[in-house]
Amino acid sequence: MRNVPYVDLQRQFAAERDEMMPVIEAALARADYVGGAAVEKLESELAAFLGVEHVVALASGTDALIFGLRALGIGPGDEVITPPNSFVASTAAIVAVGATPVFADVLPDQNMSPKAVAAAITARTKAIMPVHLTGRMARMDEIMDLAERHGLVVIEDAAQSIGSRYDGRLSGSIGHVGAFSAHPLKNLNAAGDAGFLTTADGDIAGKVRLYRNHGLVDRNTVECWGTVSRLDTLQAEILRLRLARLPWVIERRRANAALYRRLLADAPVFMPPCGDTEFNTFHTFVIQVDQRDALQAFLGERGIGTAIHYPVPIHLQPAALTLGHGPGAFPVCESQAPRILTLPVHQYLEPDDIAYVAEQVRAFRP
Ligand SMILES: *Cc1c(COP(=O)(O)O)cnc(C)c1O
Repeated sequence: MRNVPYVDLQRQFAAERDEMMPVIEAALARADYVGGAAVEKLESELAAFLGVEHVVALASGTDALIFGLRALGIGPGDEVITPPNSFVASTAAIVAVGATPVFADVLPDQNMSPKAVAAAITARTKAIMPVHLTGRMARMDEIMDLAERHGLVVIEDAAQSIGSRYDGRLSGSIGHVGAFSAHPLKNLNAAGDAGFLTTADGDIAGKVRLYRNHGLVDRNTVECWGTVSRLDTLQAEILRLRLARLPWVIERRRANAALYRRLLADAPVFMPPCGDTEFNTFHTFVIQVDQRDALQAFLGERGIGTAIHYPVPIHLQPAALTLGHGPGAFPVCESQAPRILTLPVHQYLEPDDIAYVAEQVRAFRP
C-alpha cells in the first residue's frame, strides 16, 4: 500500500536542510533575535513578489486581519461582511476589534457570493472581508464594485492564496488591505506562527508598524496603544529561503491539481471549474462528494491522508450563538459542509501519488 500523507513538513526540511542550516546558524550567531535586518529584507522581497507598495511582517495571519481592520478604522457598531465557511480567524478578527460579523453565503466554488454580499449591506456596513478559500480568488471585480458604490473598504483574507491571481491581479493587492498567514501549513510557511499585511496605503502600513510594537515611535515614546506582534529574525530568514522556492511550490501544486481534475473528470465528485480569469495556487484541493465520511475512512485505510476545511460553518459554532443564526441561515455553505473533502496536493507528491489517490476515490462505492 502506498502512503500519501496530507502534509509532509519533514520532507520539506530534508529538502532545504543544506541551505537552511547555515542561515539559521548565522542568525543565531548574530543574536539579533527581534528587530533584525532580516525582517525588513523579507518585507521588501514579499512586496516585490506580491506587487504591493507595503508589507508589514507580523506574528500571525490573525494579527494581520485584526490590525488591518483596526487601521481601517473598523470598530464597535460597524458591520463587516464575510463568508461563514472560512477558518475561524476571519470572523474572530472582526469580533476582536469590537465590530459585528455579517455573513454572506457562498457560491458552488465555496467563495463568497457577490449577490449575497449586496443583500447583506446595511447602513452600518463598513467593510467587506472576502476570503480566497483554497487558493481560489473570490469574485474581486464585483466585490470591489460593490465596495466602491457603497463607500466600503475591502480587507482580503489572503491567508490561503499567496501568489493567486484574479484577472491578472495578485491576491492581497486588490483590496485596501491584504492579510496573509505563514503558518506551517500554508503554501509559504514558517517554522512556527507568522503572518504579514499588505497595503498600498502608507498611513495604514505606518499604523500597523506601530501596533505591532507597542506604539513605540522610538525607545521611549508611545504614540498609540499597541501590542507585541513582531516577526522573529529566525522566522524571517526561514521565510526568505522559502519565498525563493514558492514559485516552484505553486507550480507543483497546480500540476497536481490539474492531474486530479483530469483523472477525476468523469467520477461522481464535484470539483469547482477553474475559470479563465483565475490563477489558483491550491493551498488545498477540495472535492465535494456524497458519503464524505465513508470516503474519508476508505481513503484513510488505503494510506491516504485527507482533511476537512471546515466541517462546522462558523455561524453554527458555539461561539457564534450570540449572533443568532440557526441551521438553514446559509444554505449553500451548510450543504457543502458535509460534502467537502480535502485531498493531498502538496508539492512533494508525484504524479504516481496523485494517480493512486484518484484511483482510490474512483474505487469507492458508497
Ligand atoms: C490560516 C488562516 C488564517 C489565520 O492565520 P494564522 O497565521 O494561523 O493566524 C486566517 N484566515 C484563513 C482563511 C486561514 O486559512
